[in-house]
Amino acid sequence: MPGRLEHRVALITGAGSGIGLESSLLFAQEGANVILTDINLDGVKKGAELIAKRYPNVKALPIKCDVSKEEDIKNAVETAVKEFGRLDVMFNNAGIMHPEDDNALNTEERIWDLTMQINVKGVWWGCKYAITAMRQNPTDESKGLHTGGSIINTASFVAIMGAATPQLAYTASKGAVLAMTRELAMVHAKEGIRINSLCPGPLKTPLLMNFLNTEEKRQRRMVHLPMGRFGEAIEQAKAALFLASDDSSYMTGTDFTVDGGISSAYVTAT
Ligand code: NAD
Repeated sequence: MPGRLEHRVALITGAGSGIGLESSLLFAQEGANVILTDINLDGVKKGAELIAKRYPNVKALPIKCDVSKEEDIKNAVETAVKEFGRLDVMFNNAGIMHPEDDNALNTEERIWDLTMQINVKGVWWGCKYAITAMRQNPTDESKGLHTGGSIINTASFVAIMGAATPQLAYTASKGAVLAMTRELAMVHAKEGIRINSLCPGPLKTPLLMNFLNTEEKRQRRMVHLPMGRFGEAIEQAKAALFLASDDSSYMTGTDFTVDGGISSAYVTAT
């Protein structure tokens, strides 16, 4: 059975941990050559080593890339195209949830700006350079390769529902990702570039678990989770694979929610 990303090239930001790391491994398993990028070079190097060991038929390239710096993203995309000749999948996944992010009164402007710089501008630049590359993708019918590609932007369930445990900059940044993704999807639909948002629910990854650093904070959320558990990064990676592959060929501009049902909840079972 050929993999679902056979002959494709995928670049993933925030690939040193959580959703990004699991997606890198899964995309490689499905036949993609993967460029793993992160500010944490050790993390992406380890991910690339795992891929080399488990899936010797594909290549994995670790690159240090801070998505808050336009030059870094430009370099990562251009390196991907230089190495592999194309870019089929761009997963703009890197994001932060700052421990000092709070409500309207307590959040400092520097926390707001940092969050927007990474979570919003980083996604914009990822889209900008991916679109530029995807327009140049050569077609090879024998391998099922075409001009265009799939861009996935990680938003969050907090972009579609309010929370009384505030993280205002983060929530606003993820709302911006949803709005930006819809518009980009419309602008580039006729070019064969599909652009979708992934909206994860609360996950058991370092990003949220470091933020919820006491049992009390964890339980404050747990009571709202319909399934009674936080999600796993691999559950998001599987959704990202769907959006990355031709399985989702008629989907663009969607807010793809993988949230254990939380955005449908009013009262949950005790
Ligand atoms: P994670 O902390 O496991 O991984 C995030 C990765 O992003 C880390 O490897 C980190 O080094 C990297 N990163 C941070 N700043 C960066 C920057 N400036 N440039 C490049 N890389 C950077 O977290 P995760 O849960 O896998 O988060 C991935 C995405 O999912 C984020 O956008 C996050 O907002 C989103 N998300 C997470 C949850 C959750 O509950 N964990 C829920 C909804 C959405």
